[in-house]
Amino acid sequence: MTGAGYVRTDQIKEAVVGHELDVLNAIGIGWHGGRGHIDCPYLDHGGKDDWRWDTGKARAFCTCIGQRPDEGGSHSIFDVVLVREGVDFEAAKIRFAEIIGRAHLIEEGGSGPRGQMQDAVCLLSAPVEDRDDTLPLKYLAALPLGIDPAAAPTPRMCAVGSKGVAGSNEGVEA
Ligand SMILES: [Zn+2]
Repeated sequence: MTGAGYVRTDQIKEAVVGHELDVLNAIGIGWHGGRGHIDCPYLDHGGKDDWRWDTGKARAFCTCIGQRPDEGGSHSIFDVVLVREGVDFEAAKIRFAEIIGRAHLIEEGGSGPRGQMQDAVCLLSAPVEDRDDTLPLKYLAALPLGIDPAAAPTPRMCAVGSKGVAGSNEGVEA
């Protein structure tokens, strides 16, 4: 496990609407919420009285915006966090979820066995009372490898053991 989570873009974009000022506050941008400008909060600029947040448009404006690669004439709240904190988009989405109290939008990371469990091929599920997920390991250990189950490699794909078919060592699909 990497420990990193994943946040769906559509969900976080929807969730953050109306919370932009909370986000600005949380990342240390002292936006006053009114008219006028503040010093640019971006480390690569910092221009005096240059930056402003337009609440109605939900966009940031500054003389420096438009000079970085691949940016338009204003910044969304996502762009603000990206430039201000120097994080990538995936990290920014997690930051948003934490700031606005939507940590439940953070899903387990896509790498590792638990990420694989989400795949369609893993949706085969045995009833709980019939299920023994040590069976695939025992099967793998006993047949191809001839080693102790504890030493068997964990299958990268989803493995579900069913007691009903294990006796024959047939139909156990890893
Ligand atoms: Zn600026």
